[in-house]
Amino acid sequence: MSGRMEGGCQCGRVRYTVELAGDDAYLCHCRMCQKATGGVAAAFVNVPDAAAVIWQGEPHWYASSPIAERPFCAACGTPLGFRFKDGKGMDLTVGSFDDPSAFVPVAHAGAESLHAAWLDTTALPRQRSDETASVIEQWAKAGRSVP
Ligand SMILES: [Zn+2]
Ligand SMILES: [Zn+2]
Repeated sequence: MSGRMEGGCQCGRVRYTVELAGDDAYLCHCRMCQKATGGVAAAFVNVPDAAAVIWQGEPHWYASSPIAERPFCAACGTPLGFRFKDGKGMDLTVGSFDDPSAFVPVAHAGAESLHAAWLDTTALPRQRSDETASVIEQWAKAGRSVP
């Protein structure tokens, strides 16, 4: 996969388009990424030149450390990425792309804070949202089917 990809926040206020040369992605396990995303790791796609990211609806940015800042949607809170303050490139969060399935992880960053128990979860039981009675019921109350 390569070419033009689109993404954005959960509420739709912030959207972006980016030209990508490949499908490489990576996980960052550092504590700042854990805090910034609320996840056990952050999944990122690196964009070598931040100018390749065209925003439609500008994100807000905050300093997550003295060396880095992160874009997010101030309305819904979606974490959208990362950049070093003096860097040329940036990262976009895999989950904010419209089609995250296009990407493949190729490396672990921030390995000093890696939670090994979360890495290989292949053997865990799986349950689909559209096969989960409580989820189906909640969506039905909202007059919708499970997305
Ligand atoms: Zn939003
Ligand atoms: Zn990190």
